[in-house]
Amino acid sequence: MTILVTGGAGFIGSHTVVQLLEAGHAVVVLDNLCNGAAEALRRIERLTGKSVPLVKGDVRDRKALDALFRAYHVEAVIHFAGLKAVGESVREPLAYYDTNVNGTLVLCQAMAAAGVRRLVFSSSATVYGPDAPVPYVETLPRGRTSNPYGTSKAMVEQLLTDLQLADPHWSVVLLRYFNPIGAHPSGVIGEDPQGLPNNLMPFIAQVAVGRLPELAIFGDDYSTTDGTCVRDYLHVMDLADGHVQALGRLETPGLHVYNLGTGCGVSVLDMVRSFERVTGQSIPYRVAPRREGDLAAFWADAAKAHRELGWQAFRGLDEMIADTWRWQSENPQGYRR
Ligand code: NAD
Ligand code: UDP
Repeated sequence: MTILVTGGAGFIGSHTVVQLLEAGHAVVVLDNLCNGAAEALRRIERLTGKSVPLVKGDVRDRKALDALFRAYHVEAVIHFAGLKAVGESVREPLAYYDTNVNGTLVLCQAMAAAGVRRLVFSSSATVYGPDAPVPYVETLPRGRTSNPYGTSKAMVEQLLTDLQLADPHWSVVLLRYFNPIGAHPSGVIGEDPQGLPNNLMPFIAQVAVGRLPELAIFGDDYSTTDGTCVRDYLHVMDLADGHVQALGRLETPGLHVYNLGTGCGVSVLDMVRSFERVTGQSIPYRVAPRREGDLAAFWADAAKAHRELGWQAFRGLDEMIADTWRWQSENPQGYRR
C-alpha cells in the first residue's frame, strides 16, 4: 500500500516509516518540520535503501493536501502530525486546537474528496482522564481532560467517531499510546526534541550526555511504591510495529480502538536506576515539586491489541534504555550535529 504519514519526520512517525518500508509499503511524508527533521528521512533512506518523499507542508493546508492526493496514489493515512507539549497547550490553547483538531478536520475533508477513507490516528492514554481505574482498558469511557492537549485528542476521537458513524465506508483506527521511548537499534534515528525536553526519557538522556546538569524528579510523595509516578513505557519500535499491524484492521470499515502499551508500570526512580545500570552513566537528580496535572500511576491493558491485531510489546526496559543511549551518545546534539 502507499501510505501518507503526516508528521513522519517526528519521533514516532520516523520510526513507523522505517517499519512500513520494511513491511513492503511505500510512504509519502507530509510534515511542516516545526518539530521534525528532514535529516531523519534522509537517514531512513540510507538505512532502508528506499526512498521517502517529503512534502514540506502543513496538515491544515487544504490546497497542499489536495495536490498531494493528486500526486500520489495514497491508500491509507497514518496521522501523527500534531503538537504534544502539555504545558505549552495550557499557555497556547488556540494553537493546539488549530493544529490538532482543525488539522485533523482539514485532513479528513481532503481525504474524503480524494476518496481515501482509511485512517490511523495517534491518540493517547490521556483520554482516559484522571478518574479511570488502572489498568486502562478500551471499554472505559473517555474521561475528563485536564489540559488543552488532552482535550484536543478527545475531541479528535469524537470527530472521527462521528465521521465514521455518518459514513460507514470509513475505517478508522484510534491508537492510544502510553509512553513511547527508545530509538531505532541502529542509533541512526531517535527522539530529538526542540528546546528543553518535556518528557522523562529524553531529559535523562540529555543529562547523561552532558547537555543538561541534572534531572528534576517531579514529586516523590505519590502513593506509589517509591513515591514517584508510575508510567507504562514502551519501545518506539514496538509502537511503530503496532501501526503496521493496525493497517490490516483498515480492511474492515468501522471504528477500532486499541491501547498500545506493555501493561507494566515503571516509576521515575526505577527508570533513573535502570538507566544508570544499563548505560554506566550517573544521572544526578533532585526532587522537585509535583508537576501540575500529573497522575500518580497508570498503565495499559493491551490485551485487545494482542487479540485483534496480534500485536504485543516485546522489547524490554533495558533494550529501550540501551537503544535510547546509543542514539543519544552517537548524536549528542540530535540531528543538528
Ligand atoms: P513529534 O513532535 O516528534 O512529531 C510530530 C510531527 O508532526 C513533527 O515532525 C512536526 O514537525 C509535525 N507537525 C506538527 N504540526 C504539524 C502541522 N500543522 N502540519 C504538518 N506537520 C506538523 O511527536 P511524536 O512524539 O512523534 O508524536 C506523534 C503523535 O503522537 C502526536 O500526534 C502526539 O500527540 C501523539 N502522541 C505522542 C506521545 C508521546 O509520548 N510521544 C504519546 C501519545 C500520543
Ligand atoms: N518527569 C520527571 N521529570 C522530568 C520529566 C518527567 O520527573 O523532567 C516525570 C513526570 O512527572 C511523570 C513521568 O516522569 O511522572 C513521565 O513523564 P512524561 O512527561 O515523560 O510522560 P507523561 O507525563 O506524558 O506520562
